Amino acid sequence: MDASGEMLDGNALAGALGDVLVGDATTMVGVCDACGASGQLGAVRVFAAAGAVARCPTCGEVLFAVVEAGERVVLGIGRLRRLELRRDA
Ligand SMILES: [Zn+2]
Repeated sequence: MDASGEMLDGNALAGALGDVLVGDATTMVGVCDACGASGQLGAVRVFAAAGAVARCPTCGEVLFAVVEAGERVVLGIGRLRRLELRRDA
């Protein structure tokens, strides 16, 4: 997205985010910001704590955590640099 382009509100992201945030997330490819390793989310190391803490299988940094709290599910982003949805996967 070009910062010099027309400014829209966050509702403009509905289509793009909808593509990323539905379906089986374990086949999405994540990139660790600490070491640069990439791989499917299904390959991360998950540790049960106050929620599920996902760590990079290469360097051990926390990539993200998922906490279920009553009616809410909270995703906290750690060292996850990006997520890729590969439409051909
Ligand atoms: Zn890493």
